[in-house]
Amino acid sequence: MTDAADEDALRRELAQYARMLVEMGLLEFKGGNLSARIGDDEMLVTRRSSAKGAFTDDDVVRTSISHLDDNANIASSTYEIHRAIYLQTDARAVIHAHPSQTVSLSLFLDELVPQDENGMLYLRPKVSVVAPPSLFGWNLVADQMAACLVSENVVVQKWHGTFAKGQDLAEAFHRTRAVEFMSAHLIRIAQLRQYFGEPTPLPAEMAEVIGGVPGRQLKRMV
Ligand SMILES: [Zn+2]
Repeated sequence: MTDAADEDALRRELAQYARMLVEMGLLEFKGGNLSARIGDDEMLVTRRSSAKGAFTDDDVVRTSISHLDDNANIASSTYEIHRAIYLQTDARAVIHAHPSQTVSLSLFLDELVPQDENGMLYLRPKVSVVAPPSLFGWNLVADQMAACLVSENVVVQKWHGTFAKGQDLAEAFHRTRAVEFMSAHLIRIAQLRQYFGEPTPLPAEMAEVIGGVPGRQLKRMV
């Protein structure tokens, strides 16, 4: 496929996943952002302040990964995080969303450790939580968040949202959904234990095979 055909196809894909993030409750309406690598040193990324719920191919910007060019100014407001992830990891696509249950948990925990089998499979061994040092200081922790994604599939920015990497947008989208499913389980476990007693972790010999850490987040914290 030529570069131009590649770009057209990727623009359509970005628009499709942007709308799906809103439709599936992972974003409000605006906010969030998505990108995908193209060529040797570039990415296609959503335009700053674009409405993901009514997204079109024209809301996509093409910009360099290795250096700041003119389009960097109109690219997503967390463009620096996307850039750092592409520079530090093997990611081909990145999705930033606002999954509400995961964000709620980030107020309590410094890492999220999946306890269900699917969560372990998709998010092993854990999902780190990184706190920005100031209001809107998202890009100040870009390198730190990218470093987490060298060995993890999703990282959470505390009080804010998730960044998921993938070999394509489908994989990054799947992981964004997976982290919210995992968070729902963790919250439900915390709620149900008062009625049913202590939960039973996945047996270690089963979890080991898929790189999970059973029981790590099941101990009562208060
Ligand atoms: Zn955001």
